[in-house]
Amino acid sequence: MMEWTSLSFEEISAIFVKAGQPSFRAKQLTEWLYKKAVLDPADMTNFSGDLKNLLKELGSFSVLKREKLQESEDGETLKFLWKLHDGALLESVLICSDKRRTVCVSSQVGCPARCAFCASGKMGLKRNLSTAEIVEQVLQIESYLLEQGESVNHIVYMGMGEPLENFDSVVKSLRILTDPKLFGLSQRHITLSTVGVIEGIRKLSQESFKINLALSLHAPNQHIRKKIIPYARKYDFDELMTAVDEYKEATGRDITYEYTLIAGINDQPEHAEELAKLLQFKHCTVNLIPYNPVSGLNLEKPTRPDISAFRDILDDYEINHTCRYTKGDDIAAACGQLALQEVLP
Ligand code: SAH
Repeated sequence: MMEWTSLSFEEISAIFVKAGQPSFRAKQLTEWLYKKAVLDPADMTNFSGDLKNLLKELGSFSVLKREKLQESEDGETLKFLWKLHDGALLESVLICSDKRRTVCVSSQVGCPARCAFCASGKMGLKRNLSTAEIVEQVLQIESYLLEQGESVNHIVYMGMGEPLENFDSVVKSLRILTDPKLFGLSQRHITLSTVGVIEGIRKLSQESFKINLALSLHAPNQHIRKKIIPYARKYDFDELMTAVDEYKEATGRDITYEYTLIAGINDQPEHAEELAKLLQFKHCTVNLIPYNPVSGLNLEKPTRPDISAFRDILDDYEINHTCRYTKGDDIAAACGQLALQEVLP
């Protein structure tokens, strides 16, 4: 059955017209869905019983069932685990810091990229998410926040999955989440993170919106990158760097390079030096993420002194960087970890 949260405003309008309904219904319904985050027609108080029934016959409203909600000790990270219609499990994370309310959405169940340090890859790819399954992660969390007088103001596509391998559903979700007539979040407040799918980056730069792009680089050269990211074998390093430069040129958005620091593999001064030379004149930000241990993976966290030395070298080259000491690691809120805990004994 068609899902209401997978449709553009124009598609919703067309459905009402076809059903012989007045055109203002599209505005009424989208206000319930996107401004009030109400996903149950029973709560749409300005609709008659007949209309509610008609809406339910025409499409489904909710595709995620909340299975679990976990809160980190500091209360800043909340992890939502959802069950999908086929029993698959999915997670989204809400990260609260100061006034920022960031939702980290998943784009696939599992992930095809199988990066050496990541929990999601251990599962492999189960399936792509539909547009509605992506959009509803934001709406369910919006509904949770609205009850406390707050609202989602940033979205990052950094949960489970590789968003550019589910291009069409992800792009449609971006249209819905940024359309002022629907969820209406500013494009500048949305970041898509990719392992580096060159053709996907090129296609994304041709879309009409200008969202931020984060590249999961994790290595200063192809040799090391190939060791930790199987996808690197498919793509030439220089060509990937150029594709990202072209994204910046086409959209005017600066790029973030994500770099998961793993002890002994990519966290030494020579790696920092090489990374700094690679990015020196790019006006970019490097987001350092100390490896967050995943059970069953034989990798080590970087030490504090190694992290500091790495950062000092980036400073020497005047490269903007942030270091994300993993938020919510007491609830295993790093990419894919909760769903994996549920799947693996
Ligand atoms: N497939 C996309 C988005 C999902 S991963 C991508 O590769 O960018 C989002 C980020 O989580 C990546 O930058 C990755 O480095 C980080 N990540 C995944 N597992 C991690 C772990 N165990 N420790 C630290 N960072 C991790």
